[in-house]
Formats: sequence, structure tokens, C-alpha cells
Amino acid sequence: MKEFVKVQDITKTYKMGEVEIHAVDHISFSIEQGELVVIVGPSGAGKTTVLNILGGMDTATSGKLYVDGKDITAYNSKQLTGYRRDDIGFVFQFYNLVPNLTALENVELALQISKDPLDAQAVLEEVGLGERKNNFPAQLSGGQQQRIAIARALAMNPDVMLFDEPTSALDPEMVGEVLEIMKELADDGMTMVVVTHEMGFAREVATRVLFMDGGNIVEQNEPKEFFANPQHPRLKDFLSKVL
Ligand code: ADP
Ligand code: MG
Repeated sequence: MKEFVKVQDITKTYKMGEVEIHAVDHISFSIEQGELVVIVGPSGAGKTTVLNILGGMDTATSGKLYVDGKDITAYNSKQLTGYRRDDIGFVFQFYNLVPNLTALENVELALQISKDPLDAQAVLEEVGLGERKNNFPAQLSGGQQQRIAIARALAMNPDVMLFDEPTSALDPEMVGEVLEIMKELADDGMTMVVVTHEMGFAREVATRVLFMDGGNIVEQNEPKEFFANPQHPRLKDFLSKVL
């Protein structure tokens, strides 16, 4: 398997007046093509910051990010725009569909900004919503709306899909359908990084689980070992609260 993403000693420091916040504090990891890496950890651990740096929405204070052999940390803002449009699919907690566009039109938005987009109808069918293409977001459930948002990101034909708590805003009965679509994507070989509190999903679908706390990757392992045999006291404590 080919190493696709390489994070090398990255930090992110936010300056708030006199105070420095070390949101990400010297982390390194790599992701092979087709891997699904799940990042778990308490609120404020730095998970979103890592995802935003991977997605070119934020830049590291120091360290290097390589994707497909290219040094993203050396990109200027124009190159970063291209990176976000052509290489990365991002799915957020709040799906932010355009309310006065249909499901299909929302997905078609992606076609306008990506240089090598997929067919919108085909992608809608992939997330199981081909028949709902003429519905407006308000006519769809939260789970269906999030599946449209996944389709919109997929239609940009990205190399890597990033998910930041994609099911956290959903009613519990809708979580499963969204995770199911993500699982299918993983089965199709998409390279994915998923921040989630869904430990069952992490255990079943992840190739590797990273535990972040205080801006550090405190522990990482393949899921079976990660959950059955946590080493660090902070991970043990975290798992005792969430499992
Ligand atoms: P998580 O996603 O794990 O909850 P975040 O990556 O959002 O954590 O945040 C990590 C830390 O960085 C937190 O202390 C947060 O308050 C801080 N932080 C995140 N973004 C900013 C910002 N734009 N300015 C200042 N501090 C920030
Ligand atoms: Mg977050």
C-alpha cells in the first residue's frame, strides 16, 4: 500500500493576545491509500484543527504536510484553493445545503468548482437518493440531507474525504444510514479521515484509530487492539466514559 498522506511534526498555535494556545502540538502520522483513519478524543483535543490542516482550510504553524508526494505546506493561497477544490472532499457536522436548490442542484454545485467532477445523478444514486433528486432540503430528513452533503463532496471527485463529526447533529435513528454510506465509501477504497464519537463505527470500519488529547496523538492502533487493550491512562479514562 502506498503512503498517501504524511503529517510530519505539525504544530498549530493560536495567539490570543498574550496567550498562546497549542491546538496541535508536534504530531506526526501517515495514511496509506485506501485507509480509513478515525480520530477520537475529548472536546478541544485538536481534532478539527488537524482535519482543517489536512483539508487546506488552515495552515500549520510549523511542520510539513505531504499529500500524494506534494508538499502542501509550501502551497500559496492560490494553490491551496486548487487543492481544496480538486483533491479534498469535506463533510461537516452541519450539512449546509442551499435551501432553495434541489438535492440534485446542490450536488451540481460541486461540478462548477471542481476540474474533474463526477456525474451528479450517479453520485446521488450512490448515496441512495437518486429518487429524491427533485426534493428541496426541507423535504428531506437530517440523515438524507447529510447524505446529499456527502454526495456533494464526492461529486468533486476528491482523492481524500475528510469528515468532522458527520453524525453529531443527527437524531439517533438517522446516524446509521450516514455511517452506512461512509462504510460503502471505505469498501470502495476511498481514503478517509473521520473525526467521530461513534466508537462502534471506529471499531468496525477503521483501519486505524488515533486518540488525540491536548494537541497530541496520545495513542494509535488498529481498532481491535485500540479498544481491547488501551495503554495510556488518558485513553483508558476516555474509553471508560464513552463506551
Ligand atoms: P476539537 O475539534 O478536538 O474539539 P479543536 O481543534 O477545535 O478541537 O480545538 C483545539 C484547541 O484550539 C481548543 O483549545 C480551541 O479552543 C483552540 N482553537 C481552535 N480554533 C481556534 C481559533 N481559530 N482561534 C483560537 N483558538 C482556537
Ligand atoms: Mg471539533
